[in-house]
Amino acid sequence: MVTPKQRMSPDPPDVVVVGAGAIGLASGWRLAQRGMRTVVVDGGEPARGATHVAAGMLAPVNEAHFGEQELLTLNLEAARAYPGFIAELEREAGVDVGYRPCGTLTVALDRDQAELLRRLHRFQVSLGLEAEWLSGRDCRRLEPALAPRVVGGIRSSVDHQVRPRALALALATAFERAGGELRTGSAVSSVTVDGDRVAGIVLDSGEPIAAAHVVVAAGWQSGSLSGLPAEARVAVRPVKGQILRLRGDGGKPLLERVVRTPEVYLVPRADGELVVGATVEERGADAAVTAGGVLELLRAAYEAVPGVTELELVEASAGLRPASPDNRPIVGAGALEGLVWATAHWRNGILLAGVTADAVADVVQAGERPESFRAFGPERFGGAVRQLTETGAG
Ligand SMILES: Cc1cc2nc3c(=O)[nH]c(=O)nc-3n(C[C@H](O)[C@H](O)[C@H](O)COP(=O)(O)OP(=O)(O)OC[C@H]3O[C@@H](n4cnc5c(N)ncnc54)[C@H](O)[C@@H]3O)c2cc1C
Repeated sequence: MVTPKQRMSPDPPDVVVVGAGAIGLASGWRLAQRGMRTVVVDGGEPARGATHVAAGMLAPVNEAHFGEQELLTLNLEAARAYPGFIAELEREAGVDVGYRPCGTLTVALDRDQAELLRRLHRFQVSLGLEAEWLSGRDCRRLEPALAPRVVGGIRSSVDHQVRPRALALALATAFERAGGELRTGSAVSSVTVDGDRVAGIVLDSGEPIAAAHVVVAAGWQSGSLSGLPAEARVAVRPVKGQILRLRGDGGKPLLERVVRTPEVYLVPRADGELVVGATVEERGADAAVTAGGVLELLRAAYEAVPGVTELELVEASAGLRPASPDNRPIVGAGALEGLVWATAHWRNGILLAGVTADAVADVVQAGERPESFRAFGPERFGGAVRQLTETGAG
């Protein structure tokens, strides 16, 4: 392991990670733990992008959609690994990240929604997922704050939650304690390319940082870094999400577990905070909070849990989810030697941070990508891709 003393070494780093969101920080931490001199660079403060606004649901079951079995398998692996990931992180960083194995209740407010959820439940059961159908009355028995109109719902004891802001703080702390260097307030203006390999980056101040490996974890901006030839880029677009933070009485929380409807989710924290999210809007790089967005979220939350109107509205924010053309993550070696992608985690970046970090460290260190990431490499979008030895991959 690299010690803080080594961090002061004048030697160039082995790896530069572009972006200090959940994905870049987790990857940096794992790389530093494996003894690689690692610098994580961010244009702003750490984790002020999508990670800052995320609700922190760890929801492999409720984010399972028809035709997405490979992603579901990866999400389930991430959820299984989460308690171990968090325990290690909290030990290393000395920060409580608010992991709560509270489960999730997804409810229907009318017959149409009930039909939709019944289909989803059948699909989940067919996949062997832990998901139980409950009557409206049983839903309200679990969560008395639910509206009387709830007609039924799915209880999952697999989908839990964490606090993304605390998670990011812990990752930054653990990364630095493992010997990594965090450079904030300095954006990467371009990636330096030397023939068929990357050679480092240049900051917008003009300062170059040489490195044999560049990990691109720049969220929705990952596809637009200059310096890379067009055929070596991946396409990543921003998908806007507006989200609210309400505050209630920590001693008497409105909800015990995450509550969802097909239109909204409500994530109750132990201290009384209630996160209400989130819109999904294809509006390019616009991250403005709109009256319509707030109205839509509050209306949907109120219909499911009328008591939300009693809570204090403390924050309305918007973030840009990084999404690939098929809305699946892009993790793996790129078209140039030393170039590694860790982006496009869409709605699951908080859930996938730990497993992605392990995959990135494997790719950088050994040129190998774990089997569970087989379907998520950049090569699925074509382009000139370097031949890799990938574990189990064809
Ligand atoms: C409203 C909302 C709710 C969400 N809820 C959940 C949830 O409940 N569960 C879940 O798992 N996921 C959730 N997500 C998704 C999750 O937030 C993202 O998938 C995840 O945060 C992506 O992390 P990231 O590190 O890739 O990107 P980001 O957190 O966006 O970080 C990217 C970083 O790169 C930096 N950067 C960009 N360009 C440069 C450059 N040129 N030079 C240097 N730095 C650069 C940025 O400043 C930023 O800090 C949610 C997202 C939104 C918007």
